[in-house]
Amino acid sequence: MAEVSQEKLLLQEEINNLSAQMREIAAAIFAEPELGYQEFKSSARLADFLESCNFQVERGLLNMPTAFHATFGSGEGPHVAFLAEFDALPNLGHACGHNLFGTASCAAAVALSRHLPAGTVHVFGTPAEEGNVRDAGGKVPMTDAGLFDKMDAVIAAHAEGRTILKQQLISRANLEMDFKGKAAHAAGAPEQGINAMDAAALAVMGINSLRQHMTRDVRIHGLLTDTGTSINTIPEFARLRYGVRARKPETLNNAIERVVNCARCCAQALGCQFSYRHSAHPYYTMRHNMPLLEDFAANLDLLGESYIKEVPSSYSTDMGNVSFKAPTIHPYISIGGAHLVGHTPAFAEASNSEGGFKGMLVAAKAMSMTGYDVLTSEELRRSIRTAFETLDDLD
Ligand SMILES: [Zn+2]
Repeated sequence: MAEVSQEKLLLQEEINNLSAQMREIAAAIFAEPELGYQEFKSSARLADFLESCNFQVERGLLNMPTAFHATFGSGEGPHVAFLAEFDALPNLGHACGHNLFGTASCAAAVALSRHLPAGTVHVFGTPAEEGNVRDAGGKVPMTDAGLFDKMDAVIAAHAEGRTILKQQLISRANLEMDFKGKAAHAAGAPEQGINAMDAAALAVMGINSLRQHMTRDVRIHGLLTDTGTSINTIPEFARLRYGVRARKPETLNNAIERVVNCARCCAQALGCQFSYRHSAHPYYTMRHNMPLLEDFAANLDLLGESYIKEVPSSYSTDMGNVSFKAPTIHPYISIGGAHLVGHTPAFAEASNSEGGFKGMLVAAKAMSMTGYDVLTSEELRRSIRTAFETLDDLD
């Protein structure tokens, strides 16, 4: 094991000193799970913690009351950002460990602020990562508004069964496509009606035919919902809710365009009006910044935490969108064991367990040490930037 520098030992000590408070915050967030964009108490607990540690906190960003931006330092570069999630899942509560790792991000920033060598440390509170609320994906508007553009590194760790540096994620979009026709008595005056359900059903068939011509990574799946309730009335409305997934954002956008065009044409064919919207922000795949991730891995080595380098995966996160605008990593830290699968009751249990608290401390230490490396090493910043500008990790 490489020798740990004095500064990194001090950062670790800061996290140890903060550990009782971190457990308290993580347990409190766990005890009162809040869904996306409703995380008022959870977000406030983290923002209050940062404020009490002398961070400047701006609460509420871009019409998202639970988003926040906390800063400490000169306001000048270099800039390191830690992202903190805090939303929970319906019925399952904190079955994704955001209570632990939102807290870890804040604590990493606090530890770093107490030994800040240069520059500025940021924490962004990022709402609604889970995809099950309307307009989910708080990081997407934050990314689009340019909040991460000047960052030299954006760092967030996530809970997992095992410690993993890199999961290959995919891009995904959720669409709602509405067909509006005209109601009429189905037996008495069908000639006066326009059948929205038939148009939607035609679109289902059309989309099925499109699949044959998509690349292997594309997934299209959905439901016909919200149509009529009475069999003797021509249904005047029908909605298709579809998920579209692909590895690269370009492929995703192309698939979305073809799906929407197909549905629109089917609507026109039967005389229906057509409209569509994204029910959640599209999530893009991750561009893992390798020099930054290797530095994080070296810090895990210093902590004696073993890890797996890479596993394939098929889920999506709004961290992906951030990674297109700034050098980003999203490693996973074990909160128990390989048997744990996110979004299950067992994962929720682990998110409020000794194993969970241990993972939170490991993450906070490794994140603060990595932030320290970014702020102190111009060479590291240069290789991170070069990798960001030349990266094509998506084939
Ligand atoms: Zn999550």
